[in-house]
Amino acid sequence: MNSITNSPVQQITFQNQSFLIKRDDLLHKDFSGNKARKFYYYFINDFPNIDTVISYGSNQSNAMYSLSILAKLRGWKFLYYVDHIPSFLKEHPQGNYKYAIANGMQIIEDKEFNKENLQLKNNELFISEGGAVKEAQFGLKILANEIKEYQEQHNIKNLKIFLPSGTGTTALFLQKFLDCEVLTCPCVGDSEYLKKQFLKLEQKEKIHPTIIQTDKKYHFGKLYKENYILWEKLKEKTTIEFDLLYDPVGLKTFLSLPKEKNFTYLYIHQGGLKGNETMIERYLYKYKDLV
Ligand SMILES: *Cc1c(COP(=O)(O)O)cnc(C)c1O
Repeated sequence: MNSITNSPVQQITFQNQSFLIKRDDLLHKDFSGNKARKFYYYFINDFPNIDTVISYGSNQSNAMYSLSILAKLRGWKFLYYVDHIPSFLKEHPQGNYKYAIANGMQIIEDKEFNKENLQLKNNELFISEGGAVKEAQFGLKILANEIKEYQEQHNIKNLKIFLPSGTGTTALFLQKFLDCEVLTCPCVGDSEYLKKQFLKLEQKEKIHPTIIQTDKKYHFGKLYKENYILWEKLKEKTTIEFDLLYDPVGLKTFLSLPKEKNFTYLYIHQGGLKGNETMIERYLYKYKDLV
């Protein structure tokens, strides 16, 4: 495997709206979604001195899982720092945590972890939480080109892109490489937080994506019954499984957005399906009537 590019585009109709879905969940069976795009730089380039990749973040993050795949494919060691691992999770590994460990991740609990104090050796590569790094542009430019190519091939005059954001890295770099408008909504923190994230990576506000406010404040990782119901309906009607952390907020915001006439809208499926395992379990445990 040396190419993970060119995921399919599919048209769907949901709640009387027709739009396109860029299926980045189908990039590759293990290395997929926007994390594969963001880490593509590290996947494809030569790093002759590197044999270890280091990162940190939450104990169930999609980025953690994708880094474990990257490390495995490259034959690198993977050290991952977390604040805390609940004893329940240690005893009953599941979801991204379980699969990342199976891929050889060495997880280190360290409440004091601070990347500023990390003394990197020559053989070590550090990747910021969630892949919010400049190098992410490399793979996201390829994604932008795939979208442009699709647009040309299908004679789409006016296109708008929508995708939900965490760190905002994906939306930001897509906007940088696309002429059409990129719309996004915050799923971690509020619009102010997202704006700050954009500014960290790009000072020129003119080339920032458009931020669409969500209908209310959603706390990241928290369970909202209506989100699960929307997710389930989407799966039933379109046969596409979306992610349960970002997509319900993203698609709800996208669907309620007034659509401009003569515009084609493309929503990006950013993968993350390994994480659904634990989310589904949490939902069904909390809301017994959901089944
Ligand atoms: C990480 C992730 C996001 C957020 O991506 P950012 O580049 O951090 O904004 C969205 N959706 C899924 C499924 C993800 O795994």
